Amino acid sequence: MTAALRRGPAFDRGQVLGQDPVLGQDPMFDQEPAPGRDSMLERARQAASAVVDPELPMLTLVDLGVLRDVRIDDDGVVTAAITPTYSGCPAMATMRDDLLRELQAAGFADARVRVVLEPAWTTDWITPAGRAALAAAGISPPGPAPRRSGPVLLQLVPPRRAVRCPQCGSDDVVVGSEFGSTACKALYRCRSCLEPFDHVKEI
Ligand SMILES: [Zn+2]
Repeated sequence: MTAALRRGPAFDRGQVLGQDPVLGQDPMFDQEPAPGRDSMLERARQAASAVVDPELPMLTLVDLGVLRDVRIDDDGVVTAAITPTYSGCPAMATMRDDLLRELQAAGFADARVRVVLEPAWTTDWITPAGRAALAAAGISPPGPAPRRSGPVLLQLVPPRRAVRCPQCGSDDVVVGSEFGSTACKALYRCRSCLEPFDHVKEI
């Protein structure tokens, strides 16, 4: 489990933790716990890694790329770091509460959750396992997120996306609404099998 957690894409240093000024130069898997703390840290990471997204419950916070770090701070307290998916996401408060509850249930009564805003989350952080879980649930996973720097031109028409129907694989799809069952998803309809489906929008 240690190896899997440390090698998991959401904890990949280059992709996610990167040069994060908030997390500093000591990202999660650089922390080598003192003897005796190892199992404690592992238990905390396993507990935190079990928490799922309340809106996309087929995804853990690791799959989603939201869980950035779980460590034992200098004062001996377990601290989980999360990055919000997007501003205004109503699920963030629930994710934080669920994380605290799981950590407390694992025996870390004074666990903390820290919110890290920089670098900003992107759908590119959703892991391959997460994308597969979305597709298996009939939700079209996001394509590559747009690369932006500087001012962002806001357009009133939906962006063109290369979307495939998660039911039949057809690319003959049409967008019905830019907002599906949640704000982060667009509603599409497949013109081949006629099924409607959600698509997680690229950000
Ligand atoms: Zn279809």
